[in-house]
Amino acid sequence: MSTRRSVAFIGSECYPFVKTGGLGDVMYALPKALTKQNCDVKVILPRYKCIPWKYQEKMVYRGEFHMDLCADGRTYYVGIMEYVWDGVVYDFIDNEEFFGFGNPYTNLVDDIPKFCFFGKAALAALNYLNWIPDIIHCHDWQAGLVPVYLRTLFADTPIGNARTILTIHNLRFQGVYNIPTIQYWSGLPGYVFNKDALMQNWLDANMLKGGLTYCDLITTVSNTYAGEIQTPFYGEGLDAHLRYHSGKLRGIVNGIDVDLWNSATDARLAEPYDISSVLTGKKENKRALQEQLGLVQDDHMFVIGLISRLTDQKSLDLVNAILPQLIDGHTQVVVLGTGDERYESAFRYYEGAYKGYVCSNIMYDEGRAHMIYAGSDALLVPSLFEPCGLTQLIAMRYGTVPIVRETGGLKDTVQPYNQYTNWGYGFTFDRYESGLLLDAVNRAKTLYFTNRWCWDEMVQRDMDVDVSWEKSAEQYRSLYMELKP
Ligand code: ADP
Repeated sequence: MSTRRSVAFIGSECYPFVKTGGLGDVMYALPKALTKQNCDVKVILPRYKCIPWKYQEKMVYRGEFHMDLCADGRTYYVGIMEYVWDGVVYDFIDNEEFFGFGNPYTNLVDDIPKFCFFGKAALAALNYLNWIPDIIHCHDWQAGLVPVYLRTLFADTPIGNARTILTIHNLRFQGVYNIPTIQYWSGLPGYVFNKDALMQNWLDANMLKGGLTYCDLITTVSNTYAGEIQTPFYGEGLDAHLRYHSGKLRGIVNGIDVDLWNSATDARLAEPYDISSVLTGKKENKRALQEQLGLVQDDHMFVIGLISRLTDQKSLDLVNAILPQLIDGHTQVVVLGTGDERYESAFRYYEGAYKGYVCSNIMYDEGRAHMIYAGSDALLVPSLFEPCGLTQLIAMRYGTVPIVRETGGLKDTVQPYNQYTNWGYGFTFDRYESGLLLDAVNRAKTLYFTNRWCWDEMVQRDMDVDVSWEKSAEQYRSLYMELKP
């Protein structure tokens, strides 16, 4: 049997063409890593108008056809534009009506028809190109209908033999709308709108739920999250459905792009450093960070970074509750993020109240993120839930000790420090309580101020952890091998 697998990725965003979150990173990095492991990968994306012109102009026309979509018999244009880069083939589905108005997501009224169209057009395009993959790897609710289409409307077409994997990057978004609308736009037969597949609460259809039913394997982005989403607290209403399908549910953590995140070559740092020069390197970067952000300049400060969307998911209530207790004359807090008004205002307030010790950068700024990862001693990630989380991985790579809540991917990637064995990668707490967060930060501070030798060892241990995509890509590849064509 061949050990090579061909895989079509279907999803709604992919760096560098269009990215709004972690999904965009995975759609970029995983195919790249898989091609290095003897997989033949094609990525299928919508051709949004917002994709920068420098990519659009290099796309090559691969063909066009018309496809029926809704129950009304009207046919819709599907163009295929191709871009090949780094061994990966990107096929963009072109249609002005659905993708012509800019951003990937606007509101559900537009997004539901858009992704009903996209899933179907992606499969039709594979048939049209006569590129029949062994595996179709779908991502999040936007590609949720793909496994459903495949086993119904496309069952007797060439693509009908492919096996499907559906990856959940964030269960919070599921593509839910009333049944008549989704039935109209998808043209799917009535029987898929039953309560074991698309139907939810008797009235609505849930595109992700349908995909979970019809796919061959479900994955999510960490083992712990795979378990958590089977409980009511994290299950976003789908916990029972996921428990029912738990036999085909797996968790694989994400990696990060270790070329993009490399402290030894990072041009945005005041002084690049590697594992052997990290102790002096971080000191220089801390100085530069303090200077640039108007913080009190002192090498002995314990600098805590927080790089995050400012939303409920990230537990900023807990951070706000303890911030005054963190500031003790030896500690500085640097925040970078945008999001909910109430968190933005709170952090602005703290910056004013603790001038020189708190700096709130209410903005999205990649360059500043690099500086903060390099210049901080610790990075705070206290999330309420975190499917995988990338910031703790980046922090480790930059020798910045993560302080995290034990949930999802944070729990799987940050082994807590044990003072008796002098081993571990960071500091953790379990329940969602500000006192426990404060305790974790204080444990970090205690080690930093009273046992710097052990702290420095942890910094180097963190930098030594393999956070690349390679290991995860291997696990995905063995899943592909498990699914016999
Ligand atoms: P999520 O996908 O839930 O936002 P992740 O931890 O998976 O969280 O990914 C967050 C990514 O976005 C990281 O690469 C982080 O560095 C980056 N990021 C978040 N906020 C900002 C910001 N304000 N400026 C620059 N980069 C940011």
